[in-house]
Formats: sequence, structure tokens, C-alpha cells
Amino acid sequence: MKVVYSPHHILHNPPKEFISSKVVAYGESPERAELIYEFLMDVEGAELISAETFDHGHFFKVHSTEYLEYLQTAYEEWVAAGLWAEGIMPEFFPIGKLRGHRPGKSPEGKAGFYMTDSCTMIVKGTWEAVRYSGYTALTGAKHLLMGQSSVFSLCRPPGHHAGFDYAGGYCFVNNTALAAKYLQDSGELKSNGGVKVGILDLDFHHGNGTQDIVQRLENILFISLHGDPDYSYPYLTGFTSENTSKNINFPLSPGITDENYFKVFCDAVSTLQQFGASYLVVSLGVDTFEKDPLGNFCLSAKIYPRLAEYLINEMKVPTLIVMEGGYNKEFLASNVASFLKPFFDHQP
Ligand SMILES: [Zn+2]
Repeated sequence: MKVVYSPHHILHNPPKEFISSKVVAYGESPERAELIYEFLMDVEGAELISAETFDHGHFFKVHSTEYLEYLQTAYEEWVAAGLWAEGIMPEFFPIGKLRGHRPGKSPEGKAGFYMTDSCTMIVKGTWEAVRYSGYTALTGAKHLLMGQSSVFSLCRPPGHHAGFDYAGGYCFVNNTALAAKYLQDSGELKSNGGVKVGILDLDFHHGNGTQDIVQRLENILFISLHGDPDYSYPYLTGFTSENTSKNINFPLSPGITDENYFKVFCDAVSTLQQFGASYLVVSLGVDTFEKDPLGNFCLSAKIYPRLAEYLINEMKVPTLIVMEGGYNKEFLASNVASFLKPFFDHQP
């Protein structure tokens, strides 16, 4: 099974974040992807390949032009204004009418307009890392279209909190939405009415960015299993009241264990089957693990191969797995590899 990777992610290495009332070392560190990459190098069945570059037109299909221009120029503009050279951390968060329709001219106003929180930082190399993270997802999608039954895109930075015109939750470009749209535009029509793509978000946190983007697209169904936003980031989205014909949220209680999680997971897969997707994109986060510092679930390591095995046997469609979160560095790589193992074993 092909595993797509790009070393460019290392260029995105913010020094710190402000989270839970504390300034701490940036949790979404380059070490995360390196740990997974190094672990997979020794796993039988993993064929490591490099990300290819793609036309940026693909990015504009899921993000606004103004937002993508901001990501490319924000750091230089910030530093040119004499602001903190270590990176951009917004200090002003406009809401509702305050956000208005334009970001204004100041770097501070733009940061508030385009970023949702203070745990996400733009540094000098962010755009370079972010675009290669997008290419990593697109390369995986391309190989699915070339006949692979499954591919793993080791994306970093992650993407599922990045919306149509905003960054947040360590995310800048929505790699999953990018790949889903690419599969839809280039994939084979299974039945009349356009190519259908299912997105299954298994990260602990609600994929608010993916939900935002999917509302603007056709024939993509987004399903997310995540920590109840009454207790967990992103706090204000991920409730069932947001469900539409394009997205279904499954907010789950703190402390949920393997058996109860698996029941909900089976319901989600059943809904995806009914939708009739030709391709599946999985947003894989292993911050659902019981020892993850940013999650509150009680899932054991044994759940990951079980979920993957079920997906393979039930969905039976080409599947792209895109890396999202997971912050326990001791177990991150082994949990990701455990999820991937059944896909490695099922290669024709
Ligand atoms: Zn997460």
C-alpha cells in the first residue's frame, strides 16, 4: 500500500501556542509526522512515496481566493509591520457582524478575520508546508484513481479544522476536502448524478472546517464521530442540530469505550453505504486513544485495526486515509500503523 509523505512539513514549526489558559510548546509538532514516517519505514506492506506537485486550481475549489492569498503573504506582511517575527498569533477575534465581509488592512485585523483561535500559528515556512500537505493528499487521491484500493496520505499540518476561508485547530488547508473534490472531479461515474464521495472523520475533534466546505459542494457526504462539543474543541460546532443532507454529526460522551464507539461507527458506515459513495476519504485522528492529552475518550489501541477491518469489508470502495490529529507521542505511530495494518494486508 502506498504511503505518501513530504519532508516539507518540517518548515511549519511554530514555537508555542496559547491553550487552556497557558502558553505551551506547539502541540502539533514536526515530530508527529516524523514518528509516523519512521515507524512505517519498518512495517511490511508500506511503500513510501513522495508527494507530487499539483496545479493550485485544486485548492481554489475548496477555499476562497482571498484566504489562500492571505496564507501565502501573511507572514511577510506581519513581519514588515514590525510585529512578532516568531509568528502570527491572532489577538482579535471578530464575531458575527464584526467579522463583516472584509478583513481590513492591518495584519492584526486580517489574522482575526482568517484565524479562529490562538492554538494555531503561522510562521515563515507555513505556506510551503501547507501546500505540500495538500499535495500529499492530492497525490494519494491520484493513486486511488490509478487503481490502488487504498492509500495513506501522511499529511502535516492536518486539515479538518480549516474552513472555506479560515484557519484553526492547527489546520490551514483542508487536505481531506481537497482530496474529496479531486476524486469527484476526476473519478469514475458509478451512477447518474455525479461522482459521490463519502468522508468519514474519525479524529477526536469535530471536523468543523470540512463541514463548512462540504456545505458548498454537491454529492459529498461528511460524517464525523467526535467528542461532544459541550466539553471539547471546537466547542461551538459538531452538534446533531447542524445535521443536513450533506453532513451528519455523532457527538460522543467523555469516557466512551470501544464497544459503544464501535456501535456508532457501524451506524456511520451503514449511512455511507446507503449514500452510495464511489470513493471514501477517511480523516484519521488517533487522539481518540485513551491516553491522548487532547481527547477524553477511553478507546484502547485494539479498536483501530477493528475499525479498519470493518471499513474494508463493508465499504468495498477505493479508500484514501488522510492524517489528522493524535498527540500522545509514545503511542501515535503505533496506533496509526494499527489502523493501516488491515489495509496493508488487503492489498491485491
Ligand atoms: Zn483532533
